[in-house]
Amino acid sequence: MDPLNDTKSRVEILEVMGNDLTVVNAARVSFSKTSTALVDADAKLIKYLARNNHISPFFHPQIRMRLKMPIFVAREWFRHTIGFARNEVSRRYVDSEPEVYIPVELRARDPNLKQGSKTESIEDNIAVCSLMKDSMDKAVETYNAMLEAKVAPEVARGVLPQSMYTEFIETGSLYAYARLCKLRLDPHAQAEIRQYADAIDRMMIRSFPVSWPELMA
Ligand SMILES: Cc1cc2nc3c(=O)[nH]c(=O)nc-3n(C[C@H](O)[C@H](O)[C@H](O)COP(=O)(O)OP(=O)(O)OC[C@H]3O[C@@H](n4cnc5c(N)ncnc54)[C@H](O)[C@@H]3O)c2cc1C
Repeated sequence: MDPLNDTKSRVEILEVMGNDLTVVNAARVSFSKTSTALVDADAKLIKYLARNNHISPFFHPQIRMRLKMPIFVAREWFRHTIGFARNEVSRRYVDSEPEVYIPVELRARDPNLKQGSKTESIEDNIAVCSLMKDSMDKAVETYNAMLEAKVAPEVARGVLPQSMYTEFIETGSLYAYARLCKLRLDPHAQAEIRQYADAIDRMMIRSFPVSWPELMA
């Protein structure tokens, strides 16, 4: 799953408020100073702030995103709460055809890990993928049959799988995204959420070329 090249997933920046200079000027107000262009001294200040845990200047830049990911990934994503605002599509009201994530490689369980999986797929990959797809198709078919029988979408959604995609608008501070990405780019994080964090990591470096690498160091 590559969220930037997968037609179902979405990782899109809608709006960026602020830049590296926003961080600098939030810090420089302590001395009643303002920078008008980012110079070497400002880059050094950003580094100092990040390395010494002076985090509040990094709260000022805000990034608004539109994200679409399977529910089992979003469930982990939504555990990152501080510095974020979110609004999500509601399956109480929406009854369009659910989209479902069906992996092509089913990673094997790793007996040496309490959480996680091996990088290799199981031996019967193709057969079990097909089993999984049949189960998803059946769930969607049942959902549609329930709607047909006039069941309310908020009740019928109970039959839909954790692999169904959900979509939400998320606004977060630069610091909040850095904390999320640091935690979810760790090798202990699940591979699927790592891919979304990786997509955001690649986008943030373009908007915050000085602050982002310092926060991620
Ligand atoms: C690899 C991995 C495995 C995980 N496994 C599990 C699991 O098995 N089960 C599970 O339930 N969760 C699990 N989590 C979720 C984890 O416990 C955190 O909820 C999640 O990573 C969000 O962390 P955050 O620091 O971004 O939280 P946020 O809620 O966004 O908080 C941000 C920061 O604010 C501070 N803060 C927030 N709330 C409080 C508070 N009440 N008191 C004091 N300080 C606070 C902390 O410094 C915190 O780091 C896992 C996370 C990762 C990355």
